[in-house]
Amino acid sequence: MREQFTYDAVAGRVVFGAGTARTALADEVARFDAARVLLIASEQEEPLARSLAAPFAERIAATFTAVRPHVPTEVAADARELATAAGADLLLSVGGGSTTGTAKAVALTTGLPIVAVPTTYAGSEVTPVWGMTEGARKTTGVDQRVLPRCVVYDPELTLTLPVDLSMASGLNAMAHCVEAFWAPRRNPISTLMAEEGIRALGRGLPAVLDEPGGADGRADLLYGAYLAGSAFAVAGSGLHHKICHALGGAFDLPHARTHAIVLPHVLAFNAPAAPDAADRIARALGRADAVTGLAELSRRLGIPAGLRELGMLESQVDEATDLVAPTVPADNPRRVDRPALRALIHAAWAGSPPGPDATATHQGQT
Ligand code: NAD
Repeated sequence: MREQFTYDAVAGRVVFGAGTARTALADEVARFDAARVLLIASEQEEPLARSLAAPFAERIAATFTAVRPHVPTEVAADARELATAAGADLLLSVGGGSTTGTAKAVALTTGLPIVAVPTTYAGSEVTPVWGMTEGARKTTGVDQRVLPRCVVYDPELTLTLPVDLSMASGLNAMAHCVEAFWAPRRNPISTLMAEEGIRALGRGLPAVLDEPGGADGRADLLYGAYLAGSAFAVAGSGLHHKICHALGGAFDLPHARTHAIVLPHVLAFNAPAAPDAADRIARALGRADAVTGLAELSRRLGIPAGLRELGMLESQVDEATDLVAPTVPADNPRRVDRPALRALIHAAWAGSPPGPDATATHQGQT
């Protein structure tokens, strides 16, 4: 029997396709009847943003280029001030998650609509989540005002994204998709998006590694990133993200590689209690087994086997367990007690083959 579910759809118009940033953007901006657009792009992406906006240059009232990673509050204040001074009626962001985040910071206080043109695989453009940093402290929140009203996805814009950055944000997207199968607000629709996202990312990641200038691989990666962001926005984050967040914060481990190493272990742990998820993930990866399929993909992309290769110490496994334990979602498919959690983190640290019961191979260490 079909289970009951709640699906809180994330609204927004999406235009996807190679070349669309040049052929469709002017019409998309015109749909807002905007006469005073604030163009937001980092210094690096400014020439690209200007060339994309050239067909409607008369509508650009001002340009903000002082984009910084993680949206420092002073950057948000400067961008808001410019929006007000320019009398902006639309925000047009061209760039990665940091640029989209800057536009979101302006929308948060002004309510101005955003048209987003992403140039990375971060996925922020389809979420109502904003983030800002003050000193080292990051604050995040959810507000529908920051959700871009229109996203123009043009894979041609991602051709210049370096391969290591492409792999990093593509793998991050893969983690969003896999986790969406058991995240707290999962439902059949987010699962559908996640499965198709895994299919596209599983094809796109090795294709872009082999041929960074290949149009098909780039299109697969961007499509997968869109689906990953969409699934994540609806389903939320679960056990995997709690572990990676704690590891990244406490031991300064690199974000994307940490995700890629931990993901097969969390999947292996949850799979016995989520067989449908494991089947669908395997199918999407075109493999007989989801866990080995994911682990093999990571290896193919040059991801180290264990967190120890990223500099984490074995003595930090207990600390990590203590940090993660209180944050484990109550509705994870399998109950996560402390010994099981420690064994999972230890297996990810050691680079052992991911298995459903890591405690069995690490008895005596809990
Ligand atoms: P980024 O926007 O900081 O960009 C990384 C680097 O890549 C920058 O130097 C940028 O100039 C360059 N770059 C961007 N596009 C390029 C291209 N096509 N070719 C060459 N270089 C290019 O990084 P990101 O990974 O896109 O975004 C990370 C940020 O987004 C983080 O702050 C993260 O917290 C945030 N984020 C937010 C959400 C959300 O839902 N709010 C979701 C995902 C990420």
